[in-house]
Amino acid sequence: MALHKTEGIILSSADWSESSQTLNVFTPDCGKISLTVKGSKKINGKRGRALKFSRLEFSCYIRGEKASGYLSDVDPVEVFMFEKDGQLGRLTFASAALETLNNLLEAGEPQAVCYQITLSFLRMTDSIEKKRLPGLFAGYILRLVSLLGFRPNLVGCAGCGKDIRTVVAEDETLLLSIERGGMVCGSCRKKMPGENSLIGLKPDFHARLVRLMEASLVEASKIPISLSDLNLMVDILTTLLKFHAGTMKKLKSFDFLDKLSKAVKTYGG
Ligand SMILES: [Zn+2]
Repeated sequence: MALHKTEGIILSSADWSESSQTLNVFTPDCGKISLTVKGSKKINGKRGRALKFSRLEFSCYIRGEKASGYLSDVDPVEVFMFEKDGQLGRLTFASAALETLNNLLEAGEPQAVCYQITLSFLRMTDSIEKKRLPGLFAGYILRLVSLLGFRPNLVGCAGCGKDIRTVVAEDETLLLSIERGGMVCGSCRKKMPGENSLIGLKPDFHARLVRLMEASLVEASKIPISLSDLNLMVDILTTLLKFHAGTMKKLKSFDFLDKLSKAVKTYGG
């Protein structure tokens, strides 16, 4: 095995014994890889804290299939401390984002754009005003889902292709089909017997999702979204991903509602 130098972000870590640990690391060139850490190299205590939400430089030995190997050395390049006002909220959104990423990434598939967006998300989570965190998180998750190939079609009807906003009355609830991975209009709905996993979206919520989907991270962070709407968005995406990707587990640190409600307290509203 040759020594490989790369950078990455730790997605999760698991201790197997006093002397052995496994890290899931997201790298731009090899995608998600699993690294075994032996003995004194183990990441814990003070060192673990500094490494958790950081851009790191890794020296590692990777096996042929490129999805696993051994850690030789690790050094922080950029550390996100989340020390500004609303620290708990910042930590909550950052951990929920990395957990979602860990669930969705396939081992060994390079995702360079997704890696850069994740770094931008962490930098912004560290620096922006706390009231902009929910919009940023929503924008990041929608971007992530799109980049990994699970973008729901929120505009064109999955049956007839018409812009869904032009075929329903202004205040009418819009229908999202889980099976079709997108919106369906009323008349196409009638032609889809047997498909019944439909979620009704209020027009203003739908409009906000469309805006967030089309926004850059900076733009998304300026779009106000309530925590109940954010939670609804996460629920819808989780249901879609469970159906289409099969890999999406219900987020464990998610107890999202619970985490979000704690986060709310930290931004006082
Ligand atoms: Zn239609």
